[in-house]
Amino acid sequence: MLVCRTVREIREFTNKARSEGKTVGLVPTMGYFHEGHLSLMREAKKRCDVVVISLFVNPLQFGPKEDLGVYPRDFDRDCAMAMSVGVDAVFAPGKDDMYPKGYNSFVEITGITDKLCGLSRPGHFRGVTTVVAKLFNIVRPNQAFFGQKDAQQALVIEKMVRDLNMDLEIVTLPIVREADGLAMSSRNVYLNEEQRQAAPVLYRSLCAFRDAVAKGERSVPKLRLGIEEMILSTLGAEIDYVEILSVPDLEPLDTINCKCIAALAVRFGKTRLIDNMVVEV
Ligand code: AMP
Repeated sequence: MLVCRTVREIREFTNKARSEGKTVGLVPTMGYFHEGHLSLMREAKKRCDVVVISLFVNPLQFGPKEDLGVYPRDFDRDCAMAMSVGVDAVFAPGKDDMYPKGYNSFVEITGITDKLCGLSRPGHFRGVTTVVAKLFNIVRPNQAFFGQKDAQQALVIEKMVRDLNMDLEIVTLPIVREADGLAMSSRNVYLNEEQRQAAPVLYRSLCAFRDAVAKGERSVPKLRLGIEEMILSTLGAEIDYVEILSVPDLEPLDTINCKCIAALAVRFGKTRLIDNMVVEV
């Protein structure tokens, strides 16, 4: 497995692959891998001849009071895990390679970024779309792989690709969970024992939502209240948002009458966790 620290090196690698007629898959990540990341890499391996992962904790997508400085990192462990699933190259640029002095260009998608995590994390999606657009230009993948765990992010990137006529396919893959239902996340390591015990309530509340819809409940206010009450009955859980919106436009709804998503962000102490469930009636 090749490890590239510079744009020039990864470009050489992907240009060569393309000139040999190979397809290139890209999995953008911020590292500290778990099974969720590996599921994307495995699927990329199945679908593409050559798989590149990027490993870059992108400062542009963190707010000034967020966890950029303490975001968990373990480069050697990540490389070993990536290698174990057959990744061909890791692109791990430095901050100055991605944003050299005088860097002034940003990609901003409006509309669907004005809600959910876009409201609680101003500037977050501008950081995400900017770095992802740069990665697409650097690697020029045929397919790029994202997790449904970050559902709004996946929709924003699909929209960017459509709106800006980017020539690649976005593949979004299911959420990988721990045995007790907690969605895997690099941030789960921040949870103390009590919080870790409590956190699966997020998935339980989403399952209860899904079951209520399956039984015929269609009222969005009632369904949202159901999720909120279940979460608030858990000690230490503080709701950032619980929303039920249409997919893919993330428009508000009164009744469930289309494909829609229940999305939530909940704090346990300083740790903010997100999760979601899509239902279709
Ligand atoms: P991150 O390193 O957190 O930026 O995540 C990199 C990619 O992995 C993103 O596309 C995430 O949506 C995806 N991902 C993170 N956690 C999970 C999970 N539990 N299941 C599936 N995909 C995930």
